[in-house]
Parts: sequence; C-alpha cells; structure tokens
Amino acid sequence: MDVVNQVEHFPQPGETIASKGNDFIPGGKGANQAVAVARAGGNCTMVGAVGDDPYADSLIASLQTKGVDTKLILRKDGVSGMAFITVNSEGENHIVLSKGANGKLAEADVAEAINDWSAVEIVLLQNEIPWVTTESVIRGASADGARVFFNPAPAIRIPDELFTNIDTLIVNETEAQVITGIPVSDPISAENAANWIIGKGAANVIVTLGEKGSLLLGRQCPVNHVPAFRVKAVDTTAAGDTFIGAYAAANAEGMEAARALIFAGAAAALAVTKAGAQSSIPSREEIESFLQ
Ligand code: ATP
Repeated sequence: MDVVNQVEHFPQPGETIASKGNDFIPGGKGANQAVAVARAGGNCTMVGAVGDDPYADSLIASLQTKGVDTKLILRKDGVSGMAFITVNSEGENHIVLSKGANGKLAEADVAEAINDWSAVEIVLLQNEIPWVTTESVIRGASADGARVFFNPAPAIRIPDELFTNIDTLIVNETEAQVITGIPVSDPISAENAANWIIGKGAANVIVTLGEKGSLLLGRQCPVNHVPAFRVKAVDTTAAGDTFIGAYAAANAEGMEAARALIFAGAAAALAVTKAGAQSSIPSREEIESFLQ
C-alpha cells in the first residue's frame, strides 16, 4: 500500500507539519505487474503475502477487480508491505519502504503454494521478497520447465550461476548498470549491457529506456530497438511494471517478440497518460485500439 502525503515542504528534523492531502494507493511491483498481465489478456495468478492489517483486504480486492487470481496470496501476522511517500510542492518525493509481509514470504511458503512449476508457462519475479525465496523459485521453476522472467527491481547484483536459469531478464537503465557495471543511458550503451548479460547465460534481455523506448536482445535473435510512443506524460508511475506485465502476457500467448515489444510499449505509453499506479494500467481493448 502506498501511503502518499502531499506537503508544502519536507519537514526538518523535529518539525511537525500539516499534510495538504493524502492518498492510499494499492501498489508494489509484483502486484502492479500482475495487474498489467491480467489487463493485457493474460491468465495470471499472484503468489505473495499481505499482513493482517486493515489494508490487506483492499490490496487483495484491488487485484481481484483487475482480474488477478489471488488464491495463492498468504496472510501473515503484522503489517502488509507499505511505502510511505511524501511529495512536496516541487513534485519531489521522499520514500520510506516497509517490507512488512513481503519480507516474510519464505521459500517454504512458495513451495507449499506451488510444488510443481511444469504447468506454469511463465514465472514473473521482482526483487521485493527475500532473495533466498526469489533464488529458489528461479532455480526450481526453470528446472521444472517454466520460463523465468526476472525484473531485478530494486536493483541487485545477480550471482553468475543464476543467469542460465533466466529466460528473459527485464531491466531499466539503473538496474542494467547495477548488474553489468556498464553505465546505461541510450540504445548503444543498453546494447552493450544486454550483450554482457547474454554472455552470462540469460536467453533474452530487455532494457527499458523510458522515453527512449526499449531494446531486446536474445541468444537467438539480433538486437531490436523500439522507440517509445509519443504521448503527453502525466504520471510515469508504473510505466515499467505495465510494460513488463504486457510483454509477459503477449509472450505467453505466442506473440512474436518484435510485436510484443510494440504491444508492451503501447501499454506503458497509455499508463503514463494517466495518474496513478494500478488504476492507470490499460486493458487489452485499450492497447489494441491505441495500436490501430
Ligand atoms: P517506472 O519505475 O517509472 O515504472 P522504469 O524505470 O521501470 O519505470 P522505464 O524504462 O522508465 O521503466 O519505462 C518503461 C517503458 O515505458 C519504456 O520502455 C517505454 O516503452 C514506456 N515509457 C516510459 N516513459 C514513457 C514516456 N514518457 N512516453 C512514452 N512511453 C514511455
């Protein structure tokens, strides 16, 4: 749950100030990406955890109304994952993250929810649950034949031996740089980083470049840079999550990679034209009519 407060200025240490307004916005990268998959036409079940606080029900309800299957979301003692966001009159923000229930999602919890990944087409992971859990799902799912899509956000150095278990690594400029050590700011540097990642053993890499679009490189396919659609950006929150979910949904249904990049770019472009996170993620119909 994103707890957002608008303020005139950030408080100094010891200062108490009044909020100009506040919002409670269901968020989290995993939840946003699950919504993006479902809205783009994918069949999506989310594995995760909420707490036993008053936010838990509204977090689950938000997923359900967007078409995500929530039967594998556990309830843990304590609070749900939260982000406390303060936005000043300049539009700058301060964010304090509290992992809450996300930090309690253990390897054994996931193994109990899914003990055989072979019926799963794609497992899409982020980095907002304990690393030991993420790593065991990456290994277990790929051993069972599921394709692993990994968005290592917040950014993390990936152990070398894990890359061969990854079908598609999806990173933004910052994440690409943390993983490879190569500064990434444009399609050329993104291609260098993507080559580094392919060299480590991932089958495919997508680097998203904000307004500069996205780039795909695969072991079996040459580099493909797709520019972003030109839209009037209102709020870029969840652009990356929308792109990733839409790409995964398109890929799962067998859409050719070059077409799936355009489809995902259209979904993300539509998301930036609206304020909000999950509420800004477009439906399949909206994406298709935008592309006509
Ligand atoms: P965020 O953290 O804001 O969700 P991100 O850093 O993970 O984003 P970006 O690389 O900024 O991801 O954006 C993902 C994709 O969204 C881009 O590849 C592009 O297709 C689309 N996109 C982002 N910003 C814009 C924009 N201003 N106009 C059009 N498309 C955009």
